[in-house]
Amino acid sequence: MTSVFTDARNRLQELGHSSGVPTRIIESLSRPKATLCVSLPVLMDDGSTQYFEAFRCQYSSLLGPCKGGIRYHSNVTQNEVQALALWMTIKCAVVDLPYGGAKGGVSIDPKTLSRMELERLSRAYMRAMADFVGPDKDIPAPDVYTNARIMGWMRDEFEVITREKRPAVITGKPVNMGGSLGREEATGRGAFLVTEFLRSKAGRAPTDIRVAIQGFGNAGYNIAKLLFDEGYKIIAISDSKGAICDEAGLDVDAVKQFKDTHRTFDSDYCESSVCESDSYKSISHEELLALDVDLLVPAALENAITINNVNEIKAKWITEVANGPISAAADEILFKKGTVIIPDVLANSGGVIVSYFEWVQNKAGYPWTLEEVRSRLHDKLKTSFDEMWQYQHQSENASLRSAAYAKAFSKYEKVINMRGTKEYFSNAET
Ligand code: NAD
Repeated sequence: MTSVFTDARNRLQELGHSSGVPTRIIESLSRPKATLCVSLPVLMDDGSTQYFEAFRCQYSSLLGPCKGGIRYHSNVTQNEVQALALWMTIKCAVVDLPYGGAKGGVSIDPKTLSRMELERLSRAYMRAMADFVGPDKDIPAPDVYTNARIMGWMRDEFEVITREKRPAVITGKPVNMGGSLGREEATGRGAFLVTEFLRSKAGRAPTDIRVAIQGFGNAGYNIAKLLFDEGYKIIAISDSKGAICDEAGLDVDAVKQFKDTHRTFDSDYCESSVCESDSYKSISHEELLALDVDLLVPAALENAITINNVNEIKAKWITEVANGPISAAADEILFKKGTVIIPDVLANSGGVIVSYFEWVQNKAGYPWTLEEVRSRLHDKLKTSFDEMWQYQHQSENASLRSAAYAKAFSKYEKVINMRGTKEYFSNAET
């Protein structure tokens, strides 16, 4: 099987060629600028020292400082981090943020750590990366199995090292440590908004839309909650341990409450699973993805839908909340079948948009109200969605993904040309 980075780069090159952007632009976006790989020594509670591999990839800084989350997961590799950083590079351009793309990660199952070990690991990560990141260089944020508390520890560690108050070094912090109101819900809210824009184009009522959601963490829960409150019928939800289903519709608040009451106190992670609730029928991960629903929301990890299971997918619409949940080959098959996919580079951009708002507030030293954050998020996504929609409808045989990438390519082409190219200096640029 092709690696996740190769798959992401192949798709970028394919979409680049079909958009007509010059090859030199595609080439410049086909490789990361720099990736730092380190070993983090962490003192464990039993007095031993363990070492964990950690990464930070700065993919591009052409549009501004690099930006991207930090993931803690046992499957984290340099290859995966580079793929995630490539998608961040496209995403920031799609929603017009003055940022390049980055991503970081630690290869660890964080659920095996105590809270003290988690703090030591997080501080060790920032110590290792302190010269590489910074408010005007590279600004990390939360991703899978990292959260506001971890961002708070990292901000603190950076400030201990630099002896200066630098809240804008990291986003997704706790609100009382310089975080923005509305950041926690932002990825789910953004995905909900773009789904609503699609629904309104299709002229359908929320109550007619049956939904399956894969992943019930920060992003998955928040979109589930907003869709549920709007009247969509959520018939299935999963997490890493399993899935539940109810044709009559699940009560998202009750599922969340069930999961939260089974939280232990010495860890930052929830020990229980949605599938341990007796109130609903249990189904497998594969069955959830294959349900005959109107909307499927993959909100867990990459490659949930690949060539191996794509023919089982019956959903008419897919909102890609996770990064890279559909492999390039599966994407092509779904496109030919007529499945409408809101691509990750727009669908989950609410997180980085509100991270940008947090960075702006930190730099200005002036916090915004929740209403301001939500209304600016809505406006930014509406403009980006409409641009993508218009491009797709004006072009022959274009998917929403190819439309989103085309906008990013055109933005990069302008910036690269303005910095000076052979065509630019010979006055031959178009
Ligand atoms: P999270 O750690 O809060 O939650 C991850 C969830 O996925 C958990 O519920 C976990 O149980 C579940 N999960 C893991 N493996 C699974 C599997 N095989 N099947 C079903 N569920 C599984 O992470 P998150 O922040 O919600 O991130 C989820 C996705 O959204 C990731 O792809 C991430 O890159 C993307 N994303 C997150 C943000 C953000 O701001 N948090 C922003 C943009 C994109």
